[in-house]
Amino acid sequence: MKKFLCLAAALIVLQTAVCAAQPDVLLYHNISESYHKSQADMNITAEDFENHIASLIENGYNIISFNTYIDHINGLCDLPEKSVIITFDDGYLSNYTVAFPILRKYGAYGTVFVVTSRVGSYDTQYPHFTWKQAKEMVDSGIMSIYSHTVSHTNMLERSANEIAYEVRKSKYIIEKNLGVKCNVLAAPHGLFSKTATFVIGESGYDVLCRVGDICIDENTDSVISLRRYTVHGDMSAADVISMINQGG
Ligand SMILES: [Zn+2]
Repeated sequence: MKKFLCLAAALIVLQTAVCAAQPDVLLYHNISESYHKSQADMNITAEDFENHIASLIENGYNIISFNTYIDHINGLCDLPEKSVIITFDDGYLSNYTVAFPILRKYGAYGTVFVVTSRVGSYDTQYPHFTWKQAKEMVDSGIMSIYSHTVSHTNMLERSANEIAYEVRKSKYIIEKNLGVKCNVLAAPHGLFSKTATFVIGESGYDVLCRVGDICIDENTDSVISLRRYTVHGDMSAADVISMINQGG
């Protein structure tokens, strides 16, 4: 019995060690040449975005792909020092036209969480990229595409069955269109419940991306959860680095 307890304790220590390291994850949305101050949580100019990427690299940050983090949580590799993941929510066209070439220029990586019912849609405040453009980004190895649900649903207002539909259908559509595994989900508005995390874990997702401290007290035992820092368009590169250093 004592031997078994020691073994169990050793396994817990090992698992904690494997999962302990987490990258700093930045959250962007649209890239726009001009925007009103009140929309700074959704927009940044191409110039400022490029400045953020260049400064992170100059300051020794490693902009890694989500795959590297998933390999790390599966125990396949160490997480590089000062790892940062760049994410974009909603799947805006500017992620393809502007962010993708900038990340390529700097040898960096990015991840976009798409709302599957809006892929290719121009009938919204900002246009969205198409599946063809998504496939081009994925095939480049620079961008990863994961789920932001089918309809950008507020999971706090949905039943377990409705959440299952949103997370499973979006996963299926992404995998069918892009030929990649979709095992990461970003909660729309950062909102989720314990029931949602259970359904997400049961639906084949390994990681749930959060937004700041939203739902910070929610139990997420069913799936690994990763906190993200929202980058506002009026933040300088120094602001972004100091946000990372202060842990948000
Ligand atoms: Zn969103």
